[in-house]
Amino acid sequence: MTQITGKVRREWVDSSEFHPLTNVEVLRNVHTGIEGETKRGSTPVLLLDLDSTLYHVESRSHQIIREWIDAPESREHASVRERLKSLLPEHLGYSLTDTLTKFGVSVMDPAVESALKSMYKFWGRRFFTNEYLAYDRAYPGAPEFVQAAYELGAEIVYLTGRDEPGMGKGTHARLVADRFPIDRPRTRLLLKKSFELDDLEHKSAAADVVKKLGSLVASFENEPPNLIALSDIFPAAMHVFVDTVMSDRPARPRAGLYRITGFE
Ligand SMILES: [Mg+2]
Repeated sequence: MTQITGKVRREWVDSSEFHPLTNVEVLRNVHTGIEGETKRGSTPVLLLDLDSTLYHVESRSHQIIREWIDAPESREHASVRERLKSLLPEHLGYSLTDTLTKFGVSVMDPAVESALKSMYKFWGRRFFTNEYLAYDRAYPGAPEFVQAAYELGAEIVYLTGRDEPGMGKGTHARLVADRFPIDRPRTRLLLKKSFELDDLEHKSAAADVVKKLGSLVASFENEPPNLIALSDIFPAAMHVFVDTVMSDRPARPRAGLYRITGFE
């Protein structure tokens, strides 16, 4: 049996044959697709991931790193702490390891390794909480794009790996504050029932919800394996890779996907 090997990050991006369209053209095509479904009398559905798709979450991590710098936990990691004082939100990568590497701090250094361990522990207790969602920022143009899709008749489904018990309240509050359509007919937020559930399983299971709602016009995702899973389930829809940050989970490259770098 031939094993189809997955590719990681830039390798995946470079091996995928995206439609050669600009951000504006992709977004316009999604709106046109929604209009088309509405005209045909079926219900168009738009599936939207949140973290690093509609929301810049690096500012959330940045805040947590700043708090770690001021916390007793970082005292024994003085050299790393000093260096990180000049860290700006734009230096942040997908993970703390990525961030340090990007910032020029070698994660192979044993002193850094031990500081990183402390940072991960500190970060893990805060990142997945309602409270820290206050530091997220919607990507410019994202609320307007979703609002316009809603007005064209789309059913809006926010599909996120965030969990209901830890992050439901904060997620909802952010969507309201950032003027994404929510709390109206044709809008729904699908969170994981518990933190432990697997993201990919959760997202694949949501496909059943989408099928019952109507016809999927487009999905938006920053995680290649999630995007590929959705494109397997909905081959006729547009699948838009939001090229912001991504994990190092491998995914199969695929032709015919769409790619945007932002909503403006
Ligand atoms: Mg995401």
